[in-house]
Amino acid sequence: MKRAAALAIVAALLLAACKEESPVVLTPEQQKLLASPGIEVNAIVEKVLPEATELLTISEAEVLASGRALTKEEIQLGLDLGVMLPEQVRVATRERFPMPRDPRIGALAAERGLVFGTPEELARTQGHGILLKPEVAQSREVLAHELVHVAQYEKARFIEDFLRRYLIELLTVGYTAAPMEQEARALSAKALKEQ
Ligand SMILES: [Zn+2]
Repeated sequence: MKRAAALAIVAALLLAACKEESPVVLTPEQQKLLASPGIEVNAIVEKVLPEATELLTISEAEVLASGRALTKEEIQLGLDLGVMLPEQVRVATRERFPMPRDPRIGALAAERGLVFGTPEELARTQGHGILLKPEVAQSREVLAHELVHVAQYEKARFIEDFLRRYLIELLTVGYTAAPMEQEARALSAKALKEQ
């Protein structure tokens, strides 16, 4: 009986783990929204983009100057995840992440249900700078996830371009379905499994 209960718990945990990694298939409606987000989302994005880009640019410079470099193994993990310049990555641990000067941006994020600036935001990546909260500072899973975002930044080339795409995804289809987040979850899970 005890063994059956234990097995049921293990099965439930495995199911939960798989569920998290399984892709969210976007509906045709969601795909349409990603392609043309509409006036309201575009207006929000254009409104917050300049200050958010400035914040992440300053934050990246700060992390690059003060953070630690990746270990040899982490550099290999970065390469496996598609990061072109993993030796440029720096990681810093902070109790709090920087927020925009304009409090309306944080309020808007909260209103839209984004984790930005909330205690649930455990990691934030800006260019080659990764910020981690102390509770996930040793987490390989979280680091792998953020390294996928580094690769996405490299492909976007400019923080502003990454951010525009990322904001549109979050504001139209939400965090779980956002293609950039799905890619981060899928690639990091695959890389860690293969190592
Ligand atoms: Zn992410």
